[in-house]
Amino acid sequence: MSMYVVGHKIPDSDSICGAIALAYLKNQIGEPAIPSRLGDVSPETQFILDRFGFEAPELKMSYAGENVYIVDHTEKTQAPDDIDQATVVGVVDHHKLGDLTSDTPLECWIRPVGCSNTIIKMMYDFYNVEIPADIAGLMLCAILSDTVIFKSPTCTTADIKCVEALAEIAGIEDFKELGMEMFKVKSAVAGTPVRDLVMRDFKDFNMNGNLVGIGQLEVIDLSVFDEIKTDLAADIAKLKEEGGRHSVFLLLTDIMKEGSQMLIASDDEGLVEQAYGVTPEESKVWLDGVLSRKKQVVPPLQGVFA
Ligand code: MG
Ligand code: MG
Ligand code: MG
Repeated sequence: MSMYVVGHKIPDSDSICGAIALAYLKNQIGEPAIPSRLGDVSPETQFILDRFGFEAPELKMSYAGENVYIVDHTEKTQAPDDIDQATVVGVVDHHKLGDLTSDTPLECWIRPVGCSNTIIKMMYDFYNVEIPADIAGLMLCAILSDTVIFKSPTCTTADIKCVEALAEIAGIEDFKELGMEMFKVKSAVAGTPVRDLVMRDFKDFNMNGNLVGIGQLEVIDLSVFDEIKTDLAADIAKLKEEGGRHSVFLLLTDIMKEGSQMLIASDDEGLVEQAYGVTPEESKVWLDGVLSRKKQVVPPLQGVFA
């Protein structure tokens, strides 16, 4: 029986490129695998797929009765809705351990590195399988995306070494330039509906029984939001009500200035001050040096909800 390899809901480049790269590896070692996805492909990911000549993996929302290899998360809120009726055969991830569980033994590749694709590269090395140039290109871009071209505090020497090795395989001379090209695509927000922007990279977390949604938009200059910031703030307030959430936060991340403005819609704004030690004004706060939701935003919040 073949397995599906799937990343998280609202897939990012790591989820999509990781599903393709891992499914290829699995097929090479005699374990039939099909990459799939749980949602639309972002403009950044589409840029990567086009660049290296790939189609998006098949869109598949239901996995009851299937074997599933999970990529880039272990949170139930981010997994397929019917994951309990599937068999989780493996996990490759670089986040905090979530609440996903399994009824059978499974393969686990979890490492505290900057990107799931860095771990997938370790898997290729472990199984001694050669990475095709086009897949190396996908993996490299996913790592540059997740590590914000090595600027994120989540970036490790393993990620940097991995990108250097993949650049060699893919024949990419200036990978930082490719990374900037990718973030320019990501920064083109004009004309996109506000809700689409809020949901572009959005994750729900269960924080001590409270549903907390955190979105992030990473751009090369925050001025792209000047005209729409009021609408973004109004939309996250709406999203909070619609989903019965305790809070919705939207991080507007400036990858050049290396910090994030957080827009806040919360039942208890005081939690933000407790978590980050800065006082919000007009439901906004600047978090200097904050680039990573996973490492710098979620843990302090989780702490104040406990
Ligand atoms: Mg991800
Ligand atoms: Mg990732
Ligand atoms: Mg990210």
